[in-house]
Amino acid sequence: MIVYDLSCSEGHRFEGWFGSSDDFGEQKASGLLTCPQCGCAEVGKAPMAPSVPAKGNARTIVSEGQTDIAKGEMPPEVKKAFKALAEAQARSLKSSTWVGDKFAEHAREMHYGEKDEAPIHGRATKGEAEDMLAEGIKLAPLLVPVAPPDELN
Ligand SMILES: [Zn+2]
Repeated sequence: MIVYDLSCSEGHRFEGWFGSSDDFGEQKASGLLTCPQCGCAEVGKAPMAPSVPAKGNARTIVSEGQTDIAKGEMPPEVKKAFKALAEAQARSLKSSTWVGDKFAEHAREMHYGEKDEAPIHGRATKGEAEDMLAEGIKLAPLLVPVAPPDELN
């Protein structure tokens, strides 16, 4: 799993998680890569070395609209890449706690030192995500939609 600092044509910066550097190229080519802030697909690597988030400092969110990605028809090769990505993501989320809609609350408490750092993932609205980014809270958008544990079955 590698993390790239990405930026869109509007200058928004965000992180993208990939199984390999080839995954990045494939997703970019198939238009799966979009800016979580403005949704544009003109996304490239930000001028900065790729980094892997420190253990225990990973915060990931499912942004609005992402849950629709998996529903559409995809070419087989994209489906395959998507599946590999989903598996890699599932492995990386094993040690992470689902906090659902309380994501912003938890992320803030950790950011301001009111709570110990721990890997969490959950849901945040676009507005919440923008506020958190403005406060300097690091977020990693999930590329593959995750079904909330309480909504399975
Ligand atoms: Zn953007």
